[in-house]
Amino acid sequence: MSFDYDLFVIGGGSGGVRAARVASSETGIRVGLAEMDRYGGTCVIRGCVPKKLMVFASDVAHSLPEAEGYGWTFTEARFDWSVFYQKLTQELDRLEAVYRDLLKRAGVRTFDARAKIVEAHTVELSSGERITAKIILVAVGGMPTLPVLEGIEHTITSNEMFHFEDLPGSILIVGGGYIASEFSGIMNGLGVKTTQIYRGEQILRGFDNEARDLVAGEMVKRGVNLLCGVNVEKIKKTPKGLLVTDTNSTTHLYDAVMYATGRSANTKNLIDASVGVGLGAKGEIIVDKYSQSTVPSIFALGDVTDRVNLTPVAIHEAMAFIATVFRGQPTPVDHGLIPTAIFTQPEMGAIGLSEEEAASRGPIEVYAANFRAMRQSFAGSDDKSLLKLVVCANSRKVLGIHIVAPQAGEMIQLLGIAVKMGATKEDFDRTMAVHPTIAEELVTMREPTRKT
Ligand code: NDP
Repeated sequence: MSFDYDLFVIGGGSGGVRAARVASSETGIRVGLAEMDRYGGTCVIRGCVPKKLMVFASDVAHSLPEAEGYGWTFTEARFDWSVFYQKLTQELDRLEAVYRDLLKRAGVRTFDARAKIVEAHTVELSSGERITAKIILVAVGGMPTLPVLEGIEHTITSNEMFHFEDLPGSILIVGGGYIASEFSGIMNGLGVKTTQIYRGEQILRGFDNEARDLVAGEMVKRGVNLLCGVNVEKIKKTPKGLLVTDTNSTTHLYDAVMYATGRSANTKNLIDASVGVGLGAKGEIIVDKYSQSTVPSIFALGDVTDRVNLTPVAIHEAMAFIATVFRGQPTPVDHGLIPTAIFTQPEMGAIGLSEEEAASRGPIEVYAANFRAMRQSFAGSDDKSLLKLVVCANSRKVLGIHIVAPQAGEMIQLLGIAVKMGATKEDFDRTMAVHPTIAEELVTMREPTRKT
């Protein structure tokens, strides 16, 4: 049977673009790609990239007092959202053009349309065109999910956070995960009166307790009104703003309410049931370790498969998919020991097991340094940093590293290599310190803080 394309990709985000581009330029096959929205996907258009730029913008609020501690004076410091927003819009336009150009130069034929899989080898575009392909790759990502709640229609999600015409005077951010906690820091830094509400005991569930306690404490010190152990009950729109009633029956008015209560796979109306692609309970496409769905000609990767929902993971999955399908080298994706950064303010970096998880598996030693770093100390700030190693008492391997410090994301990227290689505490010990740095603590902690 002959097909229009060897590979047809649905979704022009990080994973889809990487797969299409590399497959076309490096294996010489015929590749098509459909994207119904902007090229670049969640990460570039409404996620990591604009979020990080907003972190940079908002973090200046914290750097200014520090600068004063070093002898600088400012007559007036004022943030102008409209200036930033205009630059942000231009930057996203530029990046989208880069993505389109990458595909074009790689020889990928693109379709600005919604695609639906109607048969094992056939997609139907919103234009009505039908396209056949030997392999179909689904990389459509995910979208924010909202709970069912009175007044939920008045709220916004992370998608809208990059498009304020004017910043709200006050905002309630609901959730305790990556997105809620990162946006709390951003909004607070930009001068918006920020409240974060989380139903659990402490935000950033699943991360190391000591690290998340420190992040939460520092966020509060910087001005975030963090409410844990309570949830939103209902929301009412009033002429004065959004009136939120919480589960303690307390009411508060906010100019905006943002929900960051998780994301789900974008599979609604994506695949005809007759095709037989297996979906999980949350609508995610079920795939094997080679990203192959239950239908042999259909593969899926990235957030739509709900494995580890991070851009670099989708890109890894794309490269492994190409090796497996088009280079004849079956390549499973290793989802173990993924370093991650949470761009809260302060920033957090983590890899491997939290102290609590590790302790539940066997005897461990914990090496932790919780201190005021030189830069902050001199400036008169009482910001704290935490560097923490979780070590297996038997094998001596470093099982987890947890950092709360400026540039924690940069540190954890590099430490990820050592941990992935199976470094032991003694490997850290025989590494010379770089002085004076915050990170040097990682190789100078001699005595365990605790053994469990
Ligand atoms: P998460 O799954 O991380 O967090 C969802 C949060 O919402 C949790 O705190 C959860 O509470 C809470 N929640 C869920 N349902 C409700 C409800 N009905 N009412 C109130 N609270 C609720 O999702 P995010 O949306 O924050 O992020 C999605 C994914 O995006 C992340 O898992 C991550 O992979 C990725 N991401 C990564 C970033 C990075 O690498 N820096 C940045 C941003 C996103 P509970 O804990 O009780 O379940």
